[in-house]
Amino acid sequence: MHLTRKVNDAVLCVRNLKTCFFTKKGEVAAVDDVSFDLERGEILCIIGESGSGKTATALSILRLIEKPGAIVSGSILFNGTDITKLSEKEMRDLRGNKISMIFQDASSSLNPVLRIGEQITESLVQHLKLGKKQARERAVELLASTGIPQPEERFDEYPHQFSGGMKQRVIIAMALSCNPEVLIADEPTTALDVTVQAQILDIFKELKNSTSILYITHDLGVVSEIADRIIVMYAGKFLESGDAKEVLINPKHPYTQGLVNCLPSGKSKGKLVSIQGSIPDLIDLPGGCVFCPRCPDAMEICRKEMPSEARISDKHSVRCHLYGSA
Ligand code: SF4
Repeated sequence: MHLTRKVNDAVLCVRNLKTCFFTKKGEVAAVDDVSFDLERGEILCIIGESGSGKTATALSILRLIEKPGAIVSGSILFNGTDITKLSEKEMRDLRGNKISMIFQDASSSLNPVLRIGEQITESLVQHLKLGKKQARERAVELLASTGIPQPEERFDEYPHQFSGGMKQRVIIAMALSCNPEVLIADEPTTALDVTVQAQILDIFKELKNSTSILYITHDLGVVSEIADRIIVMYAGKFLESGDAKEVLINPKHPYTQGLVNCLPSGKSKGKLVSIQGSIPDLIDLPGGCVFCPRCPDAMEICRKEMPSEARISDKHSVRCHLYGSA
């Protein structure tokens, strides 16, 4: 299905993933039939508003969805192995090792009473079984690689001695400690000022030479800076996907068009415009197209049927009745 290519090129292949939360009010599909490949050495951005299902997609990949949630169907192939079938012990070996994640507001999760160095070496000892001296050398190397000056000295400092941007670099160093093949980053620059954000984005651009990155954000400005490819999600569903340049220059879905128009370079020319309305309640989704209540181009059929995928080009797909199906 959408955004899938030759399996051999991909380190991660998500197929028809459905993740639901079983609440007292009813079943909520936080991720509904989503498929994509993450190719080696690329940055794939998942973009969407809060409630679009992007974080639930990331947590599903790491099997970190907690009750009352669960992966209901679909597969997640990591180097060909379906990780939905792995035991909890096998998942623990994978997490933070082969697949690593930077969580939202991760810098606040640093332990305030542990030195920075100890926090980095923990997973080096646990996953890579390094000795104390080797782990220290590797941690210093990682701090240096994320642009932390005087890493030898800073290894022995505590989190409160680091600025917000420096803490974020430490978090990235920790996520990279075991040379993960896949790095998932959930809004990693949201709390940072613009200058520091640009420095952190530069780190991600360099990182893709050694790891594949799934980058989750609501910020299309960030996407335009770093993405090779894009998936646009809304109310748990995929709406548009493709090569980043192509989607940003020629967005097809009315929702993506609205997002792009909000960019300083978009049609609104920097004026503050927003897409009318808000994301629907997942427990009470509209019949037909999920974007229909907010769509300026809605037609009669949109109220009745959720559109299937239409292929715009080899690298570009969309779910909208304005285009034919694949
Ligand atoms: Fe708008 Fe219809 Fe396309 Fe949905 S399917 S985005 S309502 S035109």
